[in-house]
Amino acid sequence: MAVQLVDKFNRVVDYVRISVTDRCDFRCVYCMAEDMVFTPRSELLTLEEIELVAQAFVELGVSKIRLTGGEPLVRHGITNLVEKIASLPGLKELNMTSNGSQLPHLAAPLKAAGLTRLNISLDSLDTDKFKQLTRTGNLQTVLDGIKSAQASGFEEIKINCVMLKGRNDDEILDLVDFIRENQLDISFIEEMPLGEIQEHDRALTFMSSAEIRDVITQKYGLNESGDATGGPSRYWHFSDGHFSKIGFISPHSHNFCDTCNRVRITAQGRLLLCLGNEHSVDLRKVVRDNPGKIEPIKHAIIAAMNLKPERHHFDLAQEVQILRFMNTTGG
Ligand code: SAM
Ligand code: SF4
Repeated sequence: MAVQLVDKFNRVVDYVRISVTDRCDFRCVYCMAEDMVFTPRSELLTLEEIELVAQAFVELGVSKIRLTGGEPLVRHGITNLVEKIASLPGLKELNMTSNGSQLPHLAAPLKAAGLTRLNISLDSLDTDKFKQLTRTGNLQTVLDGIKSAQASGFEEIKINCVMLKGRNDDEILDLVDFIRENQLDISFIEEMPLGEIQEHDRALTFMSSAEIRDVITQKYGLNESGDATGGPSRYWHFSDGHFSKIGFISPHSHNFCDTCNRVRITAQGRLLLCLGNEHSVDLRKVVRDNPGKIEPIKHAIIAAMNLKPERHHFDLAQEVQILRFMNTTGG
């Protein structure tokens, strides 16, 4: 039988999200504090170390990898890394989540390097509001990045959108119209309490997936579909037959832990067994104690499966329990 990673709740782990950097050219208000301190380069996994860890996972039955961050496209050598990982025998999908800012010039090389699919974050179609939410981002560059990705042959591009009540919820229908007009899909994400921020009170801006759906259904009929992409999104189709899909990632209102098939590697090489818990293993130490050797990494990964917790608990009424920011965790 083929090798499989199985945790103690009998969930098969076949999907890994790798954060290739905690740095980013944006400072999205829900993701980062304004004055972030980033990890010194010597503490980040090198590109060769990331490739070795990816190979270890693929040899253990992982068939899907997502590169993320921080912003994965600000890491030098990223196209090379994509090419190396994409060519690992047994890997079916190599995807990336990006803020889109570097896609105007990198979409074509990434496609040529073998990247399968792209998720691009976009929280507003209004230039000023986009700037307020990202602090440093430029809307037009991201829109150009989306166009570039489509022109380079990427299909089924998914827009990721974090909805904050009172900030961008007046744009729900504009964003839905945008994806329909531009042959895109979209996932609306409930804000998660990862990292302590001062910019807003997450309990006040929280908007549930059900509330977002209520707004959409004022204009468009939606039918829940059974589609699964191996991620946490639950998908809905337009009842008018339009092919764009609408996903909802609802870590608060719909707990997706029972079907969780994923683990994460932080940019420092920490294997995180759950987004909402701190259970982890220091894979960087294993990699650096055993230079160039893959077997010790595989043993450490197999042993780590026992640490995967049954579920996460997010509670906005309590103090922040997870001090890691999302850019450290890797979305
Ligand atoms: N920089 C890339 C981007 O923004 O797409 C990839 C990394 S980012 C951490 C991955 C995803 O996490 C993005 O779609 C972002 O909107 C989302 N995200 C960041 N902080 C979040 C939070 N506190 N709650 C929910 N989603 C968050
Ligand atoms: Fe950067 Fe993505 Fe976090 Fe925004 S969500 S600050 S683009 S890592």
